[in-house]
Amino acid sequence: MIVAENDAKRFLARYGLRVPRGEIAHSVEEAMDIAQGLGCACVVKALIPTGGRGKAGGVKTCTTLEQVREATETLLGHEMLGHRVHAVLVEERVSISHEIYAGVVANTATDMIDLVVSFEGGVEVESVAQRDRSAILQLSVEPGYILPVHHVQRWLQQNNPQSMDVGILAEVLVQLYRAAADLDAILLEVNPLAVISEGVLVLVDCKLEVDDNAISRQPQLAELYRASLSERELRARELGVSYVPLDGDIGVITSGAGLGMATLDLLKRNGLSPANFLDTGGGISEAMVKGALELIMEPPQVKGAIVNLYGGINRMVEAAKGILAALENIPGNRPIVVKIIGNQQEEAWQMLKDQPNIHIIQVVQTEAAVAKLAELVG
Ligand code: GDP
Ligand code: MN
Repeated sequence: MIVAENDAKRFLARYGLRVPRGEIAHSVEEAMDIAQGLGCACVVKALIPTGGRGKAGGVKTCTTLEQVREATETLLGHEMLGHRVHAVLVEERVSISHEIYAGVVANTATDMIDLVVSFEGGVEVESVAQRDRSAILQLSVEPGYILPVHHVQRWLQQNNPQSMDVGILAEVLVQLYRAAADLDAILLEVNPLAVISEGVLVLVDCKLEVDDNAISRQPQLAELYRASLSERELRARELGVSYVPLDGDIGVITSGAGLGMATLDLLKRNGLSPANFLDTGGGISEAMVKGALELIMEPPQVKGAIVNLYGGINRMVEAAKGILAALENIPGNRPIVVKIIGNQQEEAWQMLKDQPNIHIIQVVQTEAAVAKLAELVG
């Protein structure tokens, strides 16, 4: 999950790190109220989960309330870098004398935590990295290592081309490293980490991405995570299935992610477009399959579905019961192609055979199921 910039800054402030004062707004009036409260020059930023806003016009500096109104109007409700802007972050404007890039990255290739620093931070940091690799400093640390400030300070002193006093920077980096570990971050990136005056560093922008698999042990993130999910995604979590909404019109249930990927590929190859992707995994029960089938058939654009199940540890009688129970609640005469193979396949076929909207496929090949569905909805 990508944590919104304002939430990420709130977490980091608890580590004694300095962040600009500010709040998020969902309307022009709110934005103007916040700006007035800040009582100074401010910055209006599109609150979207991606960087590159500066270059795309998503960060606007304002000195009057009229400018705050204009900036908010241009951003709110509009599309930027592939995201719709639902909120803006209104913050006090910081006067920056120098921009540093600071990152903490979980390096999955080396199983190390990388501290990344560049004294040439700011919106051009990617081109700095391309032009001059040596302008990007990297320190790899064992996960869990209690990183002492003097260790980071010595590393910075050895690599610092600017003859800047790196004591405070080392302290900030250690706090970022601690925060990243505490929050199970995959990536924590502060750019710019702004030098305001001698010895004063402010986190002007930050991007925090946390490991979804760790959310269950992060009470402070659980609420944000729930709030970031749609109603259907929440129901899917309660059912214990993986669910991804997509933009096509064919519902998809599979028992296994690999089978699911292959099914999506075959649908595409046959000119069909998935409306979603739901993977039951193991542990199929009647209630799970019932809930899953109701869920994937719910979007009104869904004109048919494929249920592609392999009964290994999963018992297919449970699946068939779930399908029958769901049919009572699924409106419309939309075809559902069911390919059930493996554990209890004959019993399952027998249970489903008299259902008018169910089309049973009794061969292993998913190709046959997809071809049947294409014929039915085509
Ligand atoms: P990004 O482009 O999505 O990473 O958005 P940022 O929040 O990093 O903003 C882009 C750039 O705008 C920064 O690199 C700064 O140069 C500038 N900027 C953002 N906020 C402030 C501010 O408070 N004061 C000043 N002087 N510049 C800012
Ligand atoms: Mn930035």
